[in-house]
Amino acid sequence: MTKIFLLCFLFLIFGTTESRPLVRQIRSANEFERLLSKHSKQTGLPVIVDFYSDGCGPCRMMAPVFKKLAKEIGQDKAVFVKVDTNAQYELSSKYQIRSLPTFAFFLNGKKVNQFSGAGEAQLRQMTNQVVRSSEIENTKLTIENLTEYYKSVDPSKSTEGIQSVYDKCASMIKGSEECVGAAANQLSRRLKQKYKSAPKLEERFLAEARSPESGGAKNEEKASSGSSSKTRGGGTSNKPNLHLATKEQLMEELDARLEAEADAEDDEEEEDKHGWKPSDFPEKVVIIGGGPAGMSAAIYAARANLQPVVIAPPMGGQLQGKGVDVENYPGLHNMTGPGVVAAMRHQAAEFGAVFEADMVESIDASSRPFKVITTNSSNIIDTHTIIIASGAESNWLNIPGEYQMRGNGVSSCATCDGAIYREKNVVVVGGGDSAMEEALVLARTSKSVTLIHRRDSFRASNILGQRVLDHPSINILWNTVVLQVLGKPVNQEGDDVDLDEQVMAVSGLKIENTETDEISEIATDAMFVAIGHTPTTKFLEGVVEFDPEHTGYLLTKGRTTHTTESGIFASGDVSDAVYRQAITSAGSGAAAALDAERYLSENNLGNEAAEFEAELLAEIMGSDDEPEITYNAYSESGGRGVGIKESIAAEL
Ligand SMILES: Cc1cc2nc3c(=O)[nH]c(=O)nc-3n(C[C@H](O)[C@H](O)[C@H](O)COP(=O)(O)OP(=O)(O)OC[C@H]3O[C@@H](n4cnc5c(N)ncnc54)[C@H](O)[C@@H]3O)c2cc1C
Repeated sequence: MTKIFLLCFLFLIFGTTESRPLVRQIRSANEFERLLSKHSKQTGLPVIVDFYSDGCGPCRMMAPVFKKLAKEIGQDKAVFVKVDTNAQYELSSKYQIRSLPTFAFFLNGKKVNQFSGAGEAQLRQMTNQVVRSSEIENTKLTIENLTEYYKSVDPSKSTEGIQSVYDKCASMIKGSEECVGAAANQLSRRLKQKYKSAPKLEERFLAEARSPESGGAKNEEKASSGSSSKTRGGGTSNKPNLHLATKEQLMEELDARLEAEADAEDDEEEEDKHGWKPSDFPEKVVIIGGGPAGMSAAIYAARANLQPVVIAPPMGGQLQGKGVDVENYPGLHNMTGPGVVAAMRHQAAEFGAVFEADMVESIDASSRPFKVITTNSSNIIDTHTIIIASGAESNWLNIPGEYQMRGNGVSSCATCDGAIYREKNVVVVGGGDSAMEEALVLARTSKSVTLIHRRDSFRASNILGQRVLDHPSINILWNTVVLQVLGKPVNQEGDDVDLDEQVMAVSGLKIENTETDEISEIATDAMFVAIGHTPTTKFLEGVVEFDPEHTGYLLTKGRTTHTTESGIFASGDVSDAVYRQAITSAGSGAAAALDAERYLSENNLGNEAAEFEAELLAEIMGSDDEPEITYNAYSESGGRGVGIKESIAAEL
């Protein structure tokens, strides 16, 4: 009975085929090792890995190239996977990933090639190389064919002698009991040299086993086990005969298929699951920003059943650009900035927060509910409350050449762009913590780092400042300002060359010593600007009041997160000119969600959906009674207090 049920279940949920995703996201070190082992033993396909991080610009640039290449090459020729280095430290350190993106090429379970950087040509070349090798190595020599061969070239060779030759060949490939791949090819070549003819080689893995639709790569191996001598005839189905399977085999098959099904769920589907969908009623809370403040507000609001909508671009926020670990966030250990944000986002999504990957352009607070207008103008979101958590942005020097050469040597993110300047001379401008971190990150890979600071001492914390001072490859230019970024023309190729404008890349800097007024030039390949940040609040001009003492920061009332517009709350770096830390931002994000929750409850807002449902129910039940309104944010969140509705009810 159980068996019949399992059979039906298998057919119902999967039909008869399954497929691999184009680029599979690796979720654990074990999963990766299993994948390598599977393709080494069951398909012989090469595994090509993109080690990336969300906070790295070149990684984002290469991701679509990698996906496109996966499509071009075809799933029956190679397996393409990606590893988020922030989430998979163990794996990344095992394969010694030092810069991003890194592409690694595995064949027969072994790494055969690797390179770092945003080189499409190199990626293509190495991919083609490993695919060719896998095709060449898709051979096997059976003991039967070897015996036949000796019969014709050396009939005096004993059975033991033949077996010994075969065993030697088999032992050359680790973990294999058969004479396969490079070892089989090598043996065949040697025999040809000696006897002027070669033994018959067979395909090791048939096309069906290498096909992405083959859930039966495993079965291919099963079919061959116990009979290495059988030549596999083309066209034979390798699909498991589920009708003949035992209950255990069915369970095993079910596990394997469920695993494959989970793998096939690609990123877009994942996004869709937690994506915002327009509703007939105003949202209870819209959170603008996806950094620690926004994510913390989302977790609190989601747990209070307010179904928050987070609007933020998929990348962004200050921690995204932090490559070294966030060492001061309690409870989080050995996690980089993007890793911390990803974990927070995951937690918010788990509790029901939904995400809209967009930028807010403006807020219409002239009537209620508020209207939030995003870059994608088809999205105007009505909401009862808004939590602003839009953080801050990097400051620039605003000197000639800086803007023109952004992306060609000018950057504000060492973690993102540092790998491009491996073994090159780079400059960091600034004297605060950010500048120290940028210099230390770059010193790991660059030939030399020159730190330019306009004063004669650092503003940075003592520990970081001292690390920079002690570092042998960081040179400091005190009392110096950068006047101009100097460039050299870049050779452009291809169809989309802009003939009107010559593209320039950084070649040096014009600098001035502020004590002697001496102007000079220094050669460098890149300039990383690390001179602080400005709150991202322009879109709020005319909506809420700004802090008169700190330009650009939002004004909040007393110790609350209330702005001057009732129903709009501010949290994180947008309203904090003093602390500006991940933990303080997360703290104020939580406070903003609690303030919003209280505001909704006190103003009896956000109940439309529940009221509508109750009315509908009453209608269906044929009752004329007033529907009972059950929703209350306070009771939903654990009943810490009473809202206005309860107090009125009590008084009556
Ligand atoms: C290099 C560096 C290293 C740091 N290291 C540490 C550290 O080790 N420990 C620590 O505690 N702090 C650190 N900080 C400070 C910390 O990153 C910030 O204090 C914290 O990220 C602020 O959080 P936030 O949520 O307020 O803003 P942010 O993290 O800046 O997030 C702002 C969010 O709002 C989004 N956004 C902006 N405008 C819009 C818009 N119009 N519409 C929609 N979304 C928008 C952004 O895309 C982003 O998602 C570091 C900062 C930097 C720059």
